[in-house]
Amino acid sequence: MIRVRDDLRTLEGYHSPQVDAAVRLNTNESPEPPPDEFRDALASEISRIGWHRCPDRAATSLREASADLHGVDPEQVFAANGSSEVLQTVLLAYAGPGRVVATFEPTFQMHAQTARVTGATVVVGERAQDFTLDESEIDRVIAEHAPHVVLLTSPNNPTGLVEPVERVRHLLDVAPGLVVIDEAYAQFAEWSALDLVDDQRAMVVTRTFSKTWAMAGARLGYLIGPRGLVAELDKVVLPYHLDSIKQIAGRIALRFTDDMDARVKQLVVERDRVSGALADLPVDAVPSGANFVLFRPRAARATDVWQALVDRGVLIRDCSSWPRLDNYLRVTIGTHDENSAFLRALGEALTESASFVGTASPRGTAPMNDEMGERAR
Ligand code: PMP
Repeated sequence: MIRVRDDLRTLEGYHSPQVDAAVRLNTNESPEPPPDEFRDALASEISRIGWHRCPDRAATSLREASADLHGVDPEQVFAANGSSEVLQTVLLAYAGPGRVVATFEPTFQMHAQTARVTGATVVVGERAQDFTLDESEIDRVIAEHAPHVVLLTSPNNPTGLVEPVERVRHLLDVAPGLVVIDEAYAQFAEWSALDLVDDQRAMVVTRTFSKTWAMAGARLGYLIGPRGLVAELDKVVLPYHLDSIKQIAGRIALRFTDDMDARVKQLVVERDRVSGALADLPVDAVPSGANFVLFRPRAARATDVWQALVDRGVLIRDCSSWPRLDNYLRVTIGTHDENSAFLRALGEALTESASFVGTASPRGTAPMNDEMGERAR
């Protein structure tokens, strides 16, 4: 029987086990759907699709609408099935066998996974204890490995930290190849690297409709980058990769920018409320510029706290077995009521778990590819 490629044998595919819970705060989605007017407009346009015809291969209208949103040229936009496929396409074109991709851990694990799947070698830079990124570490990784592609997530997942603009500028100054800034959560943060996109600079910024646009069900994402670099992506992407429905859904969603802004504003208020409440509990929380907060119980085992929350109908993410995230949990910001339910349950869970355990006992660090799927969202 033929075996999978040697370099894939130790990798695990994506799987995201779900537990039934009334309050689901585990996958960084929007807690609210897009408005009814979005559904109505979508239904009406879908009824007119010419089903016997291939979709517009270039996704022209969608790219024009996305370009309009950001004040760039449509030739600077590439859209695909989620920012996951955007990233895969970039890595197929600019990484691949014989090339080196750098990430700074902990970060979104699909970056390293996707790079490996393209056949690239992944080198890992280390963030500091507080998850910030030192300039000296950037310099070390660049000097030692001269990576063809550097991936940086801001705000970072799962930490929520926003990379300061000076750090991104420094990376751009020293990186010898392409810099990819993954901005899946950028609308929740105070600045975006989009302003740095320039035809003369090897940098792209990736965005997604899965979070702020409340369209995780659609699988749609895009990037903004230099025209010449974007044009090359056509060589590796599958023909007609974006179906007609998705192109319409994305284009119509962009008419509801005010609704998105209102959702984001509300989530930022709620994030700050949750962070404030966490500060009064026996946990250490990481300052977040995203729609989730990473925190660590001081005197209880994270896994026990996670289970005690599930027992109370609240599902969050147990990150405690992920590399460099001993005893950490991540909560996605939900509606006001969901967040209140979480905070209430967390207070009880911390008390209950602390009385069982007495003290936190962080476990050993898992190997890089362990529980890949569990870490992917
Ligand atoms: N980048 C980051 C940092 C993410 O957290 C996620 C989703 N969890 C993605 C990209 C992938 O998003 P999409 O749904 O657009 O593929």
